[in-house]
Amino acid sequence: MEEKAKAVELPSVTIDGVTLPAQWNRMFEPRVINQYDISVLEETTAIPGAESLGYCYQCGKCTGVCPIDTVGDYSPRKIFRRTQIGIPLIDSPDLWLCTTCRNCLRVCPKEVNMIDIMPAVREQAVLEGKAPQELLTAFENTARYGNPLGEAPRKRADWTKSAGVEVRIMSQLKAPVDVLWFVECYPSYHPRGKDASVALARILDKLGIDFGILGVEEKCAGDSQRMAGERGLFEMLAEQNISTLSKYEFETLMVTDPHAYNAFLHEYPKLGGSYKTVHYTQLLAPLIDQMGLSQEVPARVTFHDPCYLGRHNGEYEAPRRLLEAIPGIDLVEMGRCKERSYCCGGGGGGMWLDSFTRDHTSARLSEMRVREAIEYGAEILAVACPYEVSRFEDAVKSTGNAGRLKVMDISELLALSMGLIPMEALA
Ligand code: SF4
Ligand code: SF4
Repeated sequence: MEEKAKAVELPSVTIDGVTLPAQWNRMFEPRVINQYDISVLEETTAIPGAESLGYCYQCGKCTGVCPIDTVGDYSPRKIFRRTQIGIPLIDSPDLWLCTTCRNCLRVCPKEVNMIDIMPAVREQAVLEGKAPQELLTAFENTARYGNPLGEAPRKRADWTKSAGVEVRIMSQLKAPVDVLWFVECYPSYHPRGKDASVALARILDKLGIDFGILGVEEKCAGDSQRMAGERGLFEMLAEQNISTLSKYEFETLMVTDPHAYNAFLHEYPKLGGSYKTVHYTQLLAPLIDQMGLSQEVPARVTFHDPCYLGRHNGEYEAPRRLLEAIPGIDLVEMGRCKERSYCCGGGGGGMWLDSFTRDHTSARLSEMRVREAIEYGAEILAVACPYEVSRFEDAVKSTGNAGRLKVMDISELLALSMGLIPMEALA
């Protein structure tokens, strides 16, 4: 075989009696730019579900859209690069910061899929005892009590006592319903979540919808625990919920929570639970004309798209149709909206990782979003996910904007306009 010519670096070269230093030919030597020990990357991409991390070709598109990069040094591009040079993702804080908001996947030409990668590697980390303690506490609460807040299961339907309308419990009703409302944990237990549940119950009652709830039989849908690395816990919850739902007859499963919506659309069917599932905004939007939206709600309102309703499942219009139908509301869009929406920080387990996240970022995503809403002149930040009311209300306080921006669920705004809750709720 013909031997390839090789440039030889000489210390100097003499031409026509003139001696020159020979650095001029140094560039003929191959430069070492890509000889890494990639065993760490190979170990990571060998985890089932994490394969696509290896597809990254460092274009950087994801960095421009990742919300965590706005408060830190983060993105799939950076995660790939760190793994490539030997920093194990499984031991890195990077593993717990991703909120699975899906914005990077929207722009990634190589389909590097953090929605698969993160739960896969996190599951391994959980098995190896490497998950942050506050997340483990949420897992333990969910396993023990059926909700991540650690509240008593027997109190799951207590909020109905303040609804002021009949909210029927399926186990007592013993009859089919048109709509089975899967209420979920924060709308059952969190004070502000309960306010939204009361508002929604009154709306359903006023519309004459035949509905019931599971009450104490309901368990957390478990989707965020799955994304945070506890697939086993998710499967246990799903099996229990599917078994409970199989006892009752209903046409439509209505959920308050976009994370539950995601689980019922994509994950429960794999375990034998297939239902006609709608988010509450989707159930209500076609009924606008029957709602009697008569009271003015005089306010400039902006809407935060929940990642798991919008980007994950493509519903951007139903919440906006409802808000636009309320008289008096001046709906203004923030720059980051719809498919480009920012993230509240609660998804993918972020809801239970606030202390950890605070130690590794410069601000909370919810604080960034609250500031953005105020920049756009909003007086009310409207939400449609039960994680968001508490996150954004905390952020309003921590950014010193108490009294300047109110956070309200769309169901509360509708109920105000229908005269079902007092206007003082706006104060
Ligand atoms: S957009 Fe995709 S391919 Fe480009 S740097 Fe990010 S993860 Fe890598
Ligand atoms: S899913 Fe969202 S938070 Fe996670 S890396 Fe992608 S853009 Fe960043």
